[in-house]
Amino acid sequence: TNPIFTGMPTTIFEAMSALARETGAINLGQGFPDVDGPEEIRAKAAGVSLHGPNQYPSMMGIPGLRQAVAAANRRFYGLDVDWQREVLVTSGATEALADAIFGLVAPGDEVIVIEPFYDSYVPIIRQAGGTPVFVRITPPEWAIDPDALARAFSPRTKAIIVNDPMNPAGKVFTHEELSLIAGLCLANDAYVIADEVYEHLTFDGRRHETLMSFPGMRERVVRIGSAGKTFSLTGWKIGYVTAAPNLLEPIAKVHQFVTFTTPPNLQAAVAHGLAMGDDYFTELAATQAGKRDRLAAGLASVGFEVMACGGTYFITTDTGPLGIDDDAEACRRLTREAGVAAVPVSAFYAGNAPTRFIRFCFCKRDEVLDAAVERLEHWL
Ligand code: PMP
Ligand code: GLN
Repeated sequence: TNPIFTGMPTTIFEAMSALARETGAINLGQGFPDVDGPEEIRAKAAGVSLHGPNQYPSMMGIPGLRQAVAAANRRFYGLDVDWQREVLVTSGATEALADAIFGLVAPGDEVIVIEPFYDSYVPIIRQAGGTPVFVRITPPEWAIDPDALARAFSPRTKAIIVNDPMNPAGKVFTHEELSLIAGLCLANDAYVIADEVYEHLTFDGRRHETLMSFPGMRERVVRIGSAGKTFSLTGWKIGYVTAAPNLLEPIAKVHQFVTFTTPPNLQAAVAHGLAMGDDYFTELAATQAGKRDRLAAGLASVGFEVMACGGTYFITTDTGPLGIDDDAEACRRLTREAGVAAVPVSAFYAGNAPTRFIRFCFCKRDEVLDAAVERLEHWL
C-alpha cells in the first residue's frame, strides 16, 4: 500500500462529526450550514432531475454553468474569461484542488503552503511527487511575514497555494499581502493555486479580491470556487476552476480520469444560483457575519478569548477556560462532556503545531448557537 496514505488518520472533520453524532453533541466542528441554500436553486435541480437531461454532461461541465462562472468572474472581479477554454466544473473544490495539484506539480517541484492549511493539500502534493514548503503565520494577527515568504521561494517552486478567506484562521488577506504574493510569483515564475471557496463569505465591508486580477497574474492563477459555500449546499459538491487555457488543460486531463464529469441537475441549479441578484450575495455575508458575532459574544461570555474573523464559516479561540492545553483532548472532552463539538486547530499543521487553539463553526441557526453557548456555560 501507499505509505503516503497508509496509517493516515481519517480527516478531523469526519472524525469530529462522527463523535458528535455518537454523543448527540451540537456540531460546531465540520463546516456546513444547518439550513439548506435557496429553494429556487434546489427547485431547479429537482426539475432537471425529473425532466432531464440526466446523462453524462460534457466533461468540462454544462455550458450553462461554465458561462455562469465566466459571468460571475466578470461581475465580481472584472475578469474577462472565455467560458469555453478557461472554465472547468468539478465535483467540489476538493476535486478541483487535487486536479490542479496533479495537473501542475511534477516530481521534484516545491509547493509553498501557508500554515495552518486545509488538510487536503499536503497529501496530494506529496502523491504528485512534490515537496510542500511551509510558511507559518501566527495568531492572533495571522499576518504574512514578507521575509519568511520570500525565503520560501526557490528555483524549484512551482506554485503557492493561497486560501483566501482562510480556513481555519478566518483571515482575509490584505491587498498588500496579495501584492506581495503576486510579486514573488512573478519574480520566481511560480503559479498560484487560489482556493477561494469562501469568496462570498467576507464580513464588515471587506470585499474579496482575487489574485487573478493582480497585474501580471491573469495567466498564473488557478482560481477555485465552490457552490457548497456560496449557496449553503455543501453536500452537492460542485466546484469550479478558472484558469488560462494552457494551465487548465492539464487540470482538465486529470479531471477526466478522476470523475470525468459532475451531476447535470446540480450543475444547472448552480448556474441559476450564480446568476442571482447581488442581494443574495450581500445577504449571505451579512447573515453569516451576524452569526459570527452571536457565537463570538457567547464564547467570550463564558471565558474564551475569541480571535478576529474577517471571513469563512469559522472562529478560532484559545482553549482558555477549559484549562486543557492539548487542543485535540479539549475538543474530545468538549464534545463528550459539554455536548458541543469543535475542531482542534493543530489538525491544520504539518508538525510542531500550537495546541492551544480550537475552531468553532458559526453557520448554524441562532437557536443552535445559543444552545451551544448555554451548554458550555453549564459545563464550565
Ligand atoms: N478548501 C477549503 C479551504 C475548505 O474549507 C473546503 C471545505 N469545504 C474545501 C476546499 C472543499 O470544498 P468542497 O466541499 O467544494 O469540496
Ligand atoms: N471544509 C470543511 C471544514 O473545514 C470540511 C469539509 C470536509 O469535511 N472535507 O470544516
